[in-house]
Amino acid sequence: MAQTDYYEILGVSRQDSEEEIRRAFRKKAMEYHPDRNKEPDAEEKFKEINEAYQVLSDSTKRAQYDRFGHAGVNGGSYDRPFDGFDVFGGFGDIFDSFFGDAGGRRSRAPQRGSDLQQQVTLAFEDAAFGIEREIDVSRVEICHECSGAGNEPGTAINTCGTCGGNGQVRRTQRSVFGQFAQVTSCPTCQGKGTTIERPCTVCRGAGMERRNRKTVVNIPAGIQDGMQVRLTGEGNVGSNGGPPGNLYILVDVKPHKVFQRDQFDLLYTLPINVAEAALGVEKEIPTLEGETTTLKVPQGTQHGSEFRVRGRGISHINNGRKGDLRVFVDVQVPGKLNGKQRKLLEELAISLDPNYGKVVEEEIYSNDSVNENQRPQDQTYADEDHEDPLDGKSDRDKGLFDRIKDALS
Ligand SMILES: [Zn+2]
Ligand SMILES: [Zn+2]
Repeated sequence: MAQTDYYEILGVSRQDSEEEIRRAFRKKAMEYHPDRNKEPDAEEKFKEINEAYQVLSDSTKRAQYDRFGHAGVNGGSYDRPFDGFDVFGGFGDIFDSFFGDAGGRRSRAPQRGSDLQQQVTLAFEDAAFGIEREIDVSRVEICHECSGAGNEPGTAINTCGTCGGNGQVRRTQRSVFGQFAQVTSCPTCQGKGTTIERPCTVCRGAGMERRNRKTVVNIPAGIQDGMQVRLTGEGNVGSNGGPPGNLYILVDVKPHKVFQRDQFDLLYTLPINVAEAALGVEKEIPTLEGETTTLKVPQGTQHGSEFRVRGRGISHINNGRKGDLRVFVDVQVPGKLNGKQRKLLEELAISLDPNYGKVVEEEIYSNDSVNENQRPQDQTYADEDHEDPLDGKSDRDKGLFDRIKDALS
């Protein structure tokens, strides 16, 4: 749908008279008519030109367009029928009947108002639990002053003298086939059958005005970022008694400090240290509702392991069923160690791999500049454990892990 300015399309200014607009239109229409202009975009251009003329040649529509832009004339949904050309197959007077007639039929037909879209930003919790929000909406409504009639209250709306009130006039046309009569929309009243003595000062005759309204939106629990809530009939008012458009509330959800979201599951990252991972631990996990829940991390839990706390996620938007709280384990290796921790971990390292000390010795202490006194006391750990070094279930190792866990926590 073209949204270019209608005046621009016809190459006229906002002050130009109806006659000037008409002349500009004829010139443009001749230039871009698909029968003559074989450029690929000629037909599209031609449609645009028609659409612009439809609006600007109709004083009521032009007034609406001047005040409300494309929204005031329903975004320019004037799809012109092209059958007129098939019948006449030529140019000249045909333009008059073609556009006058179709325009006349259109101007009286009820048209649905255009839709509006507005964005609301929600806190993570508000999207999860649902919330009632008051929002400000700027929309086109029936003019409150003239109730849509377009006349200044107290002044007359007269029956059109040109068409006698029926909105149509008979015209004699000349074409390549000879003369014939054609019924067209009345040029005086644009098919409405009435004329206004004095236009309403609020809407300048358009019958509509833009107003700011406060509207309450019920955001349902479980809504997701990027979803829209439809408020039926809360959009712009329709013309000629057509129904109003809808108002769509586009939801933008702010991220949470602790949780992430995957559909209706809450995602939480649980940091634990290496000793807790090896020995197992009970941890308090926060929930979105505020209180905590206890999660048992079993012994031997690997980094990246996932645990599910059933039913502690977010309500499904349709059925209220709750998703899960999914906990991802982040095993954190301590970056800094105090003396006790270092000693315990060295003990563990040798317990897990009796060659540990030697590798360290080769890699670290092969440098000649290192003082002999800094060598680790290998004897301290020698022959301490003859069991399978990877079997963490031996009593001695358990004691060691526990001491490490205490030292790290
Ligand atoms: Zn008014
Ligand atoms: Zn008339």
